[in-house]
Amino acid sequence: MNTATAWSDDHFIAGDVALDFANTVYRRTPEIGIDLLDSANALTAWLHHAKLLPALDDARDRFDGSQTALCEARRMRELFWGIFEAKTDGRDLPADALADLLDTARRGIGSDVAVGPDGSTAPLTAQGALTVLALHGVRLALSPSSQPVRSCDRCGWFFTDTSRGRRRRWCSMKTCGNQAKAARYRSAHP
Ligand SMILES: [Zn+2]
Repeated sequence: MNTATAWSDDHFIAGDVALDFANTVYRRTPEIGIDLLDSANALTAWLHHAKLLPALDDARDRFDGSQTALCEARRMRELFWGIFEAKTDGRDLPADALADLLDTARRGIGSDVAVGPDGSTAPLTAQGALTVLALHGVRLALSPSSQPVRSCDRCGWFFTDTSRGRRRRWCSMKTCGNQAKAARYRSAHP
């Protein structure tokens, strides 16, 4: 059955691909919502939309039906959640999750991923796309935060706050921002 989530640019609002990947659930708070990464096809389609798949004709097929890749991707997403939640809350990063992520990131370097002189990464295989994603996560986790990682007050999706004054509260005005405004209006005008 092919029920792959139809990814759109509305799923890529975080300003960092690692955070976009962490946001592949309908909501993260107050509890984890529907998993948008619900099949290997959805994973392939997401990587494709994120432009992380190598330009190989058969790349799209590689993950189709591969539960291993899906499990690996979901596991990495959980590491991202733990690490970025800590970053958002201003806590030390969880050592176990960071060690796991570094381990994931180092796998495939050379065989599945090429690293350019400027540190840019290019996946050579579909598997390499997951390594590249892990490297993006490491980079963001260990970067000093001039653009802090924050999460949406309403749904918990992560984003890098590039707003002036660093006061962004919503993942998107189109969704949560407008809903919050409407809720405020309703409570002010009963
Ligand atoms: Zn939101």
